[in-house]
Order: sequence, then C-alpha cells, then structure tokens
Amino acid sequence: MSDALTIAKSPEEALRAFLQFLLREKKVGAVLTLDRIGKSAVPAYSLITDASELESASPLLPMMPANAGKLLAELTELAPSPEPIAAVLKPCELRALVELRKLNQANLDNLLLISFTCGGVFPLALRNDGGIDERLLPYRDALAKGEVADGIRPTCRACEHFVPYNADLTVALVGTPAGDGTSTFLINSDRGAEVLEGFEGNRTEAKLESVALDTLRAKRAEEASKLYAAPETAALGLDGLVSVFGRCLSCRGCSNVCPICYCELCYFESAVEDPTPSKYEAQLSHRKATRVPPGTIAFHLGRMTHMVISCVGCGMCSDVCPVGIPVATLFSMAGRSAAGVFAYVPGKDLDEDLPLKKYEADELSHLGVERIES
Ligand code: SF4
Ligand code: SF4
Ligand code: SF4
Repeated sequence: MSDALTIAKSPEEALRAFLQFLLREKKVGAVLTLDRIGKSAVPAYSLITDASELESASPLLPMMPANAGKLLAELTELAPSPEPIAAVLKPCELRALVELRKLNQANLDNLLLISFTCGGVFPLALRNDGGIDERLLPYRDALAKGEVADGIRPTCRACEHFVPYNADLTVALVGTPAGDGTSTFLINSDRGAEVLEGFEGNRTEAKLESVALDTLRAKRAEEASKLYAAPETAALGLDGLVSVFGRCLSCRGCSNVCPICYCELCYFESAVEDPTPSKYEAQLSHRKATRVPPGTIAFHLGRMTHMVISCVGCGMCSDVCPVGIPVATLFSMAGRSAAGVFAYVPGKDLDEDLPLKKYEADELSHLGVERIES
C-alpha cells in the first residue's frame, strides 16, 4: 500500500486540473504535457507557463509525437531547470530520461515526474488523419479490462514495462473503469506528496496492483513472444539484416527521433562517412558492385552497437520510417538480448550503472566466457 489521492474526476480531467493547480499555486514554473494545438487540435507536446493554456491539454492522450524524455533532456542537458517543471511522461519516456541522466545528458533536479500505467500509443499516422478521437473509447475500455488495445504501436503491444519506475506520482489508468468519474494518484516520493498539498481529493492508502494489471502483463508477454518470433525479426543474421535494411533510404529519421541517439555529431553524418568517388573506387576495386547510397547496414549496425543496451522500445523509430522498416522491433529485440546478459532493465534504477560503464571479471561466465582478470 502507498499513500494516494482519490479525486472525483476522470483521470484526464483530474490530471489537467492538477497541472493547472501547480501553475496557479506557483508550485512549478512550467508544465510539459501533450496538448491539442491549432484549429485541428493536433496532438503535440507543449511547454506551458499559464494555467489557462492548459484548457486544451490532453496529458493522457495515447500518442507520442516525440519522446518526451528526449525533450526534457534537451531542456536540462546543460544545467537543471531554473524553475521546477512538472512533466507528464509515458513510462518508456521516463525510462529514456533516466538513461540520458546516466549518460550525463539530462538533469532531473528540478523536475516533477508524473506518469501513468500505460496502455500504449497509436501510430503517428492517426495524428495526421485525425482518426484518434474515434478510437479513444474502445482504447479506454480495453485498458479498464487489462486488454491489449487495438491499433497501438507493435512495440507497445509487446511492452512489459508499462508500470512506471521513478515517477513522483503515478496515475492509475489500467484497471480504472472508463467513465466512472474517479481517479487515483499514487504518491511515490516526498516531492509528490508535497505538491499535492492543498489539491482537491481524499488522502488514502491504495495500491496499483489489480487483476487488470496482471492480465495485461500476461497478454503483453504473449504479444512479445509473437513479435520477436515473427519471420521478419527472428534469426535475422547478416543476410536477414541486408534484406530488411536493404530498403532503407538513409534518411536518418530513426536516429533523429531516438531519445538515446544523443550525439551532437553522429559519426555516420560526419565528413568521414561522405561517399566520395575515391571511396566508391576503393569499394569497387575488391567488389564488383556496391550499393548506392553506401553504408546503410553499417549505419544500423553502428547505431545498434552504440545505443541498443539503453533502448526503451518506445517505437518512435519505426513510426517515422517512411518505408516501413520495423526498426523499433529489431532494436528492442537486440536491446532485450544485450541488456538481458547483464540483467539490466534500461531506465529502471537510477542508481544502477550502465552495464558498459562497469566491469566484473566473471560477468559473462554463464556464456562460457572464463573469468578475465585485468
Ligand atoms: S512502449 Fe510501453 S510505456 Fe511506452 S508508450 Fe508503449 S506501452 Fe506505453
Ligand atoms: S531505438 Fe527506437 S525503440 Fe529504441 S529507444 Fe530509440 S527510438 Fe525508441
Ligand atoms: S527511418 Fe527508415 S529509411 Fe530512414 S534511415 Fe531509418 S530505417 Fe532507413
């Protein structure tokens, strides 16, 4: 059991009212949340400093126009925010933020982190054709029952980390009946308790675990087995990678939206990698044909090697790929495999070192690799 607040409003209404309360009471200086902007109410993240601007906010909308962990890292990379920011993030966005903190790319000092038990997000294409609203009711019904909602991103269907880690406050969505007009905020930290002081609702004790959460966990595990056993991902090997990434346009959309690909100048964007005539000549001198543009497989393998242990499976990379390559499925599969060797869950424990930052002599003994003394 944890401390909790129950509020006589739907989770979306209660959270919007709470964010307004935080700004009006000057408990924070800004709020980062999903908003519906412009006449067509397009979902996008907004940084908001005036409570009245939160009327159009939709903090729990199942869309991810950008990974909010990446956005927060960009805001805090050089120094902590001078004023507290309340941010509403999905669990994988929060995990990305924690990984970026471990990589010295983010500062969490002045952030109030609010998350929720997550039913997944719809592909960005729905944002463009406006089809999101008609899907909300069935989506919320599925969440209430612990079912995998129809139409969400493939990696969301397989996501087993849908209960947030490291949130100051967790809004209970999975298992909460849609339309019954009540919500529960779980209080996970002193900071969370402090900012709730004076907000409407009843302080009580509650816990997240419910039949719906367990049901969803089991169904997501089943979906993960199916996703990672699909012909396009299972037993890829080099030939498989060549065939999957052979249709890559080298647009770099996948790395640009990835929260974990943070390098200011990517090696693969540098002059060293520019395809010059002399490089083609060198290639053709020992092979009689070369792909144009070159370096596609090297780009994906290089990116994989650099960041995959921190991949949080958010699905952004697949969602932006113009030729439908299942980048997130491949990267999250490789990430699960690499992180699994070290029993590491990216973004779970703030105090746990990145596996690549620490060395233990017998860390690969279960793979038959003998103890290596330095
Ligand atoms: S990957 Fe998991 S946490 Fe992230 S949006 Fe999908 S279901 Fe939610
Ligand atoms: S590789 Fe893709 S799924 Fe993994 S963190 Fe980056 S954008 Fe998200
Ligand atoms: S988004 Fe798709 S086409 Fe563009 S670089 Fe990535 S895999 Fe290739």
